[in-house]
Amino acid sequence: MAKRILIIGGGFAGFWAAIAARRVAKSAAEITLVSREPKLEIRPRLYEAKPDRLAVEIPPHLSKVDVNFVCGQAVGLDTTAKLVTIDDRKCLAYDRLIVATGSRMCRPPVSGAAEAHSVDTQAEAIKFDQRLEEIARDVKEPTIAVVGAGFTGIELSLELRDRLVAHGATEAAERLHIVLIDRSDVVGPELGLGPRSEIEHALQSARVELRLNAKITALESSLVSFADGSVLSADAVVLATGMRASPFADKVPGERDQLGRIIVGADLRAPAAPEVFVAGDAAAADTGDGHRALQSCQHALQIGRVAGENAARDLLGMPCVPYSQPNYVTCLDLGRSGAVRTQGWDRRVELTGSEAKALKQKINTKLIYPPADGGADALLASSTIDIVKRYEIDGSR
Ligand SMILES: Cc1cc2nc3c(=O)[nH]c(=O)nc-3n(C[C@H](O)[C@H](O)[C@H](O)COP(=O)(O)OP(=O)(O)OC[C@H]3O[C@@H](n4cnc5c(N)ncnc54)[C@H](O)[C@@H]3O)c2cc1C
Repeated sequence: MAKRILIIGGGFAGFWAAIAARRVAKSAAEITLVSREPKLEIRPRLYEAKPDRLAVEIPPHLSKVDVNFVCGQAVGLDTTAKLVTIDDRKCLAYDRLIVATGSRMCRPPVSGAAEAHSVDTQAEAIKFDQRLEEIARDVKEPTIAVVGAGFTGIELSLELRDRLVAHGATEAAERLHIVLIDRSDVVGPELGLGPRSEIEHALQSARVELRLNAKITALESSLVSFADGSVLSADAVVLATGMRASPFADKVPGERDQLGRIIVGADLRAPAAPEVFVAGDAAAADTGDGHRALQSCQHALQIGRVAGENAARDLLGMPCVPYSQPNYVTCLDLGRSGAVRTQGWDRRVELTGSEAKALKQKINTKLIYPPADGGADALLASSTIDIVKRYEIDGSR
């Protein structure tokens, strides 16, 4: 009977894990990817206009490299019997498992948070876009509150005026009142000091009102209530309040970090379940130079490739390769102010304005997409050469 590699999750990490596993295993393993939907959502772009176009159908790519696709949700894991339960209806057996179930946004524990908008998944981004379309049609002087001034909240705030323009509301777009809220006392706290003045300048130019040091207590009926007793009335409230590993990761035995990620070894194996490898936003992996990989596309693309390669190597009795990703860059979209690209973990600003924007557009529209023709090109692209060098960027997150 053929040996089986099973991958759960069809995001960037799971997609590339499946292809890298095929490259290494050649015809020596049956490889199956299970995901909730037959598409790779281009999550880094979900702050942009027209979110309905921001996904790639994955079964055609997988079938070209002889990887099976099963549409379903993994709900159970038995690491002793080596079985994964899909949708409570069928079990899939594995010899090596790759958990690549990614992350989801954490909603703050306040009333009304469950109903607030977000751009975390394509479905949520489409729903938010429909609300923008209604606002563009019906509201002359709209207010939109964005909660969370991290990477996503900043990019989204700086895009909102043009999102209304895209819906034909040029005048309302210019009158739009954008409020960016955070409990921190600075914008982009996790981005450090490096790009901060560029970000602040872009927010000021875009007339984004900042409410920092602000603790939210409720988000009901488009009213944002704050701990100091003040209330903001908004036509839409959209959350960008950080990510956490998706719940399936809880089923893998072993230690977790504060984001719910499984702490893996250098080979990306879950130490307490030796036949299980973990990839992308579900994995807390050391980048090989003492840093922890972030929940980012940049890291998911590389961790996925290494996890796929190692699952296949392990199955074939070959030594695993260590995951290492010392090059770290960020490229943050600043809307009409262009973008800012930083280099290294201390985030030194290396490029700004239109040059950085051109790079951001290249990342968003080309580099993070699978090769159009798939097949041999995808197998080649699944090699574990450092992602920043491969793309000659110099940029992603
Ligand atoms: C708005 C936004 C902007 C971003 N911008 C950037 C950026 O500029 N740069 C950057 O590097 N990163 C960015 N990110 C982060 C980046 O998108 C994620 O880090 C990346 O998508 C992680 O890839 P992944 O494959 O690990 O997980 P995911 O993309 O979360 O994919 C996981 C997949 O697994 C599926 N799944 C989950 N649970 C199950 C289950 N139980 N059974 C079956 N399937 C399951 C999900 O449906 C999904 O398809 C951004 C994210 C967002 C939301």
